[in-house]
Amino acid sequence: MKAEILAVGTEILLGDILNTNAQFLAQELATLGIDVYYQTVVGDNPKRLEDTIFHAFSRADLIITTGGLGPTEDDLTKETAAKYFEEELVLDERALGRIRKYFDKTGRKMTENNIKQAMVPAKHGIVLYNDNGTAPGIIMEKNGKIIVMLPGPPKEVVPMFRKQVRPYLERKQESTVVSEILRVANVGESTMESMVKDIIDAQTNPTIAPYAKDSEAILRVTAKAESAEKAEEMIQPVMEKLKERLGEAAYAMGETNLQTVVAKMLLEQEKTIAVAESCTGGMVVSSLVEYPGISEVLLEGCVTYSNDAKMRRLGVQKETLDTYGAVSAETAAEMAEGIAKTSGAAIGISTTGIAGPDGGTEEKPVGLVYLGLSIDGVVKTKEIRLAGSRSRIRERAVYQALDWLRKEMLHGEQR
Ligand code: ATP
Repeated sequence: MKAEILAVGTEILLGDILNTNAQFLAQELATLGIDVYYQTVVGDNPKRLEDTIFHAFSRADLIITTGGLGPTEDDLTKETAAKYFEEELVLDERALGRIRKYFDKTGRKMTENNIKQAMVPAKHGIVLYNDNGTAPGIIMEKNGKIIVMLPGPPKEVVPMFRKQVRPYLERKQESTVVSEILRVANVGESTMESMVKDIIDAQTNPTIAPYAKDSEAILRVTAKAESAEKAEEMIQPVMEKLKERLGEAAYAMGETNLQTVVAKMLLEQEKTIAVAESCTGGMVVSSLVEYPGISEVLLEGCVTYSNDAKMRRLGVQKETLDTYGAVSAETAAEMAEGIAKTSGAAIGISTTGIAGPDGGTEEKPVGLVYLGLSIDGVVKTKEIRLAGSRSRIRERAVYQALDWLRKEMLHGEQR
């Protein structure tokens, strides 16, 4: 089934409101396995609306419209669709009753115009009653062509689609579509794609789509089958292949994030942790605190910004700071060791770097960050070089610190 999404309304055309209905519907249709080839916006103009609907049906089997079901003269979606289907509109008493009730409930006065909203197709139509507004939605279907007309406001569109339209479309589709996502840490989208390109190219069902979201690379594997179980079965081996190829960069499946995965590992391995931060200013510990239940393993977080604090709180040697500077592998190591020892945690992790925009030198440019990790008494450091704004550098430093910790814990588990 080829679909087209059509948003009706001059407000959208003028840019006064954002077409969030199209985004919502496109995502829903993708999960139903219905291909959307076009998204269109047309103003409240009878001639152009008619042209758009007729043209859309020349290339699509299913049109989903939003907007233009209101009570005023320029709300013409339903009337135009009726013209295409050569269908007569008649008054639906039940729809009218619901509109009256809606007005009573909201304390507003119903006008004669609203009767127009209760007009529905005489023969080939399905009425979608509206629990959140006045305009009922309508489905018209004839000779293999379907138009689903929804009201404009998203708070009406979303429940109407989910409760009434989705099940209708599911019945039309002979197959079910299931998607699973694989999250990849610290590998850019294009690098990830090149790593698995041959696997992607060899697949038709399931399909594999790479994309980037919240600075992460993600692979979405989508299978179409006669049942959800069958689709899941088809996804399984493809996922395994991708995981094997991407190795430990593939850190999780489904709706989760890196800090959740790290927090869970700490809890599972019963490893206590303490954090000493300079350039990240508490963001590492804060991201761990996002996870409920972390108090079992998270002992302490210190923001040791000054040299004095690094010496006083963490026991970093003055000599180390004088010789190597605050932004150095040596300082990061002593910070991690110091926080682990003084807190009694099994893991101490530290960050120190130059977040910018000023303060960089040729030798130590903006974006240079050192991470320290003391894990069961063994201390390691890592130098990373990041680009971007101050906040971007700090966010990436947190991400790198957590990902490094994750990998070290994985290796510890394997040892
Ligand atoms: P109503 O019965 O509420 O009048 P309607 O079907 O006539 O609904 P419109 O008048 O076209 O719908 O739009 C009503 C409101 O819904 C708009 O003012 C806007 O706030 C919102 N809306 C309309 N279309 C969209 C869209 N595509 N995306 C997001 N919001 C929309």
